[in-house]
Amino acid sequence: MARIVMKFGGTSVADLDRIKNVARHVKREVDAGHEVAVVVSAMSGKTNELVGWVQNMPKVAGANHSIYDAREYDAIVASGEQVTSGLLAIALQAMGINARSWQGWQIPIRTDNAHGAARILEIEGTEIIRRMGEGQVAVVAGFQGLGPDNRLSTLGRGGSDTSAVAIAAAVKADRCDIYTDVDGVYTTDPRIEPKARRLKKIAFEEMLEMASLGAKVLQVRSVELAMVFKVRTFVRSSFEDPDAPGMGDLLNPPGTLICDEEEIVEQEVVTGIAYAKDEAQISLRRLADRPGVSAAIFGPLAESHINVDMIVQNISEDGSKTDMTFTVPSGDVEKALRVLGENKDKIGYDVVQNESGLVKVSVIGIGMRSHAGVAATAFQALAEKGINIKAITTSEIKISILIDGPYAELAVRTLHSCYGLDKS
Ligand code: ADP
Ligand code: ASP
Ligand code: MG
Repeated sequence: MARIVMKFGGTSVADLDRIKNVARHVKREVDAGHEVAVVVSAMSGKTNELVGWVQNMPKVAGANHSIYDAREYDAIVASGEQVTSGLLAIALQAMGINARSWQGWQIPIRTDNAHGAARILEIEGTEIIRRMGEGQVAVVAGFQGLGPDNRLSTLGRGGSDTSAVAIAAAVKADRCDIYTDVDGVYTTDPRIEPKARRLKKIAFEEMLEMASLGAKVLQVRSVELAMVFKVRTFVRSSFEDPDAPGMGDLLNPPGTLICDEEEIVEQEVVTGIAYAKDEAQISLRRLADRPGVSAAIFGPLAESHINVDMIVQNISEDGSKTDMTFTVPSGDVEKALRVLGENKDKIGYDVVQNESGLVKVSVIGIGMRSHAGVAATAFQALAEKGINIKAITTSEIKISILIDGPYAELAVRTLHSCYGLDKS
């Protein structure tokens, strides 16, 4: 007998039939004698609809377009998960399973005060553990918690993954299964490259890079938590027949295991390709090349919560002037330009230029640590397809390349095949 947390994403609970199908997956584990907690997302499209409603409300006079009361945003967008948790509890009860829904505040899942993108601080797991011991299935609304101000909070888009892994850590689950619309983590997004292959295992560090560089199959924070708390996490499909052979395998369920790199016997040099759309590039031309100039640029941007990613600096031949180019999410361009404008005198640049609609493609693999030439292979392959590179950043286990938006899919497929990822 084991303790299992099962998380079902938006497409898995998209309508009543799919919720009934999810109930069959849960029943399989309950019938096998396991203690089960379930975490659900909102029906697919629901959270987008709720966010849209918030954004279309009238603004406080004089406020910037993105400023609304984030506590009310959370009260509204958390409602999608409230509905699916109740519906799944009813579906389970109808199958004769003892189940009840839990909202984040009822457990409670305590978070910090960052409404809209809160972090889980603590989960009071005692009551859920006690009830699971009595055979009751806990159906938990994902994505939401309770802030220190005693108000609903939400964990940022894709946050139900994080709810699930955090609950698995809190109840000391043997396994956390993330059920979604693909049957595992692939070498790249299978929607872009049909030749992508499912990975049997992927190391925590690689999954962290994949997620933070755009593969939305898991929220970044969920991978961090799984790594820190050593939660055995599988990504698997809810669309397979719940009673097909092997689906209830305790140690090797079908799907991809996220694990320590030591558990991976045959480590490839490159594990996967990720991409992130909607990047924008901002260039400041002819800055004075003096100490403090970077601080003058990036300090005010950070204070305005603008996430700067790639940074490239060019120095003129005589060393007196420099150009600074960096990327921000497209949605932050206006705000960034405003902040730079307000600080023009302090920074001392000549002109500012910007370009939106760019894409960052990334090559990820722990094997890069010990192999030379991985970057050169990518540059050569992109050059052969006539794809121009606008900026490059690297770390020990990844290379990120900024390109023009229309080339995104071609670049992903090119990189995927140049490392032989499409060959089994
Ligand atoms: P859920 O609603 O279940 O949380 P998401 O849409 O958040 O599902 O995540 C699943 C999607 O992630 C898949 O449909 C797939 O298109 C996308 N995805 C991106 N990169 C990958 C990858 N490397 N492996 C698997 N899926 C990926
Ligand atoms: N429903 C939320 C979202 O769409 C959380 C999740 O699906 O994980 O972002
Ligand atoms: Mg998701």
